[in-house]
Parts: sequence; C-alpha cells; structure tokens
Amino acid sequence: MTESTNPQTLVLHAGYRKDDTTNAVAVPIYQTTSYQFDSTDHAAKLFGLEEMGNIYSRIMNPTCGVLEDRITALDGGAASLAVASGQAASALAIQNLASAGDNIVSSTDLYGGTWNLFANTLKAMGIETRFVDPTDPEAFRAATDDRTRAYYAETLPNPKLQVFPIKEVADIGREFGIPLIMDNTAAPILCRPFDHGAAIIVYSLTKYIGGHGTSIGGMIVDGGNFDWEAHAERQPNLNTPDPSYHGAVWVDAVRPMGPIAYIMRARTVMLRDLGAPLAPMNAFLIIQGLETLPLRMREHCVNADAVAAWLGNQPKVTMVIHPSTQNGEARRRADAYMPGGNGGLVGFELEGGADAGKAFIDNLEMLYHVANIGDARSLAIHPASTTHSQLSAEEQKATGVTDGYVRLSIGIEHIDDIIADLDQALSKA
Ligand code: PLP
Repeated sequence: MTESTNPQTLVLHAGYRKDDTTNAVAVPIYQTTSYQFDSTDHAAKLFGLEEMGNIYSRIMNPTCGVLEDRITALDGGAASLAVASGQAASALAIQNLASAGDNIVSSTDLYGGTWNLFANTLKAMGIETRFVDPTDPEAFRAATDDRTRAYYAETLPNPKLQVFPIKEVADIGREFGIPLIMDNTAAPILCRPFDHGAAIIVYSLTKYIGGHGTSIGGMIVDGGNFDWEAHAERQPNLNTPDPSYHGAVWVDAVRPMGPIAYIMRARTVMLRDLGAPLAPMNAFLIIQGLETLPLRMREHCVNADAVAAWLGNQPKVTMVIHPSTQNGEARRRADAYMPGGNGGLVGFELEGGADAGKAFIDNLEMLYHVANIGDARSLAIHPASTTHSQLSAEEQKATGVTDGYVRLSIGIEHIDDIIADLDQALSKA
C-alpha cells in the first residue's frame, strides 16, 4: 500500500493489514499473558534487546501494538507505549526522566487529576513540580534549574480552553536539553504537537480516541526528535548505566532500533517495574474508536462552534469560554496550534453562580452528567463541585475554575437536539 499521511487513512490502515494466520481483517484481541520462545537463544536475545519480539503482556502485546503504531503514525512520531490510563501515561512519562531530587516545570492549566499527581503524589516521591502561568512562555525558563528534567502542558486545557504556546516553550526547553511533554487528550487530530517542537505526547485514550465511553487507556508517544545524547548531564536516566538492566546505557543500547531510547526505557523499565499495561480487550475497543476519530472530531468541532455561538446570545450566560470567542494572543495560538478546529469543549459562566450551575446540570435531560470528556454523547459537569473539588480555592482559581463555571463536552448528536436540551435546562437555572 502506498504510504499515506492522511489521518483518515492512517487510523484504518497504519500498523496492521491482516492477521497472518487467519487473514482476519479486524485487529484480533491477543488475550494472552505470554509468548512461546523459539529456543533458549531466542529468549536470551529478546531479553538482551538484541532482537525485538513478544515476551510478556505486562510490557508488550500485539493488540496494544497495533494501537501504538496507529497513534505513532497519526502524530508523526517514532514509537509509542500503550498504558492502562491517561494518568499512568502522565506519571510514567515523567518518572522515565525524573527521579527524587529532580523537578519538572508544568503549566498551571491542567486536568485536576494531573494537578494532584504533580502537586502531591510525585512530590511525595521527591519529584518537585514548579507550576507556571502559560500565558508567558518565558516563565518556563525562569523556573528552570540544573535539576529540571521536563516541561509539561496540555494542548487545550479545560476549563480555560486557551491553547498552549507549544513552539515557544519547546524552543526554550531545547536550549537547555529539556523535552516538552504535551498532553494532547483534548485535541487529537486537531493538533500535532511534534510539528511544533514537542518531544513527547501523552494521551488519555479514554476520551476522544476511544470516543464511546467504554474503556480507560493511555498512550505515551515518542517523537524521536529529541537529542537525549547531546544533553547527557541533563538527562541521566537515558545516558548513564542502568543498574536495573545490566548496566545498559539506553541511548547506546537502543541506537540500532532508531531514535526511541526514551520510549524503550519507558517500556522495559517503567512498565516492567510499575506495571500499568493496557489490557488487550481495551486496546481492541479503543481501536474501534480510533478508526472513526477524524470523522468524529470534525463533528465535535462543528457542533461546539454552534453551541458557543448560541450560548453567546443567552442573557443568563455571562461568559462563553471557547477558542472561537478568543482574540489576540489566545486566538493566534489557537490558529497556529489547532488548525484542525476549535475542539469539542465549551465552558460558560452563569450569572447565578454555583446554585445556577448546579440547577442547570440537574435539569439536563439528554446531556449526561459525568466526569468525562470526549465521548460521542454530549456531557456536562460543574467542575467546582466535582473534578476540581479536591483542589484548594486558590488552586481552583489558578486552574480557571469559578463557582458558576459549567463545562460542556459537545458530542456528535444533531445540533438541534443539543441546543434544545441546553435551552430547557438554562430556562430552569
Ligand atoms: N489528561 C486529561 C486532559 C484528562 O482530561 C484526563 C482525564 O480526565 C486525563 C489526562 C487522565 O486520563 P484517564 O482518566 O484516562 O486516567
């Protein structure tokens, strides 16, 4: 088949043509823990990284492998690693580079769960997060020191829905030998972070990529575009002998396989030891979603643009938060980094504050009230009392959550039905 770079084709064809034994066209579910070695020599070669092949499903599985290859192709990366959840992807992506005593610099505009991971759990493990305001890319430089191992941000963070300055921060990081890790969960297809200098992408597959609210999953994608070796002091995990892998220096050990030292270490050390693999059944379900992702993203964007415009005309709505309503630098970033569309998330504030926000949610009939985004169905939530409730008032403010804020994840139902439900719920708020 001729090589395609079109997402519509890649999601259906990259990484898999047919099953070699049965000729099955759908990706099979390889529900197996282990794989028979051809001989003791073969087994030794696999363990010694002299040959690539299946060993044990905690660290690799063929169904997960197809999903990995398709997302790698979609983002123009070098290789990927499927994991059990988006949270596992974020945690492992950082732990692969940073150890106790190190730090990362992260945007303040984060999913609440990621904020908690950084502010509390990684902190307890000795990895400090320095949170900075992403409206000023130079804040990343100012927070950097000799022990900074990574920069971290979300492409389209909610609730603020202001697109992150990917190139500006990636360029600063590259001066220091610091990779930018982008959480692209809210903007797959719409944004390709590697095109703008990001080195690593993480996804919660649970959202748009799976798309049907059936399976939790995560992915780490290695852009293969970062020179780890040129920054040996900055990146010791990839450049010094690894006692957990008979002294392998990852940039050397992996050289014959291509620029994939980062993701190979994530797989063979982090996933081996911390053990959060994606289940093959979930990989299969997420592949079904991935195959229609380009179509769905287009519909999510068209519907969300229409909802944002409609909300702008409602007297009870004091503010609409959506890239289509932004001007100036925020608009420029949206145009530069999300050329594929404004995304499916829409925020708004109600003049009645928290009581109105809760009443609106309680009166929805078609939209689901759930702690999720990126489902084919339209969803709504009141972040202050749910997703962001474990944050302090100050932290909520820093991430952009106010009392009257309502977050919508606009689905692919008919736009008339979405607006009819919003209209009747708003009339009771
Ligand atoms: N990143 C973002 C932007 C998210 O919205 C979420 C979940 O809501 C996650 C990461 C975590 O993903 P998961 O729920 O798959 O662990």
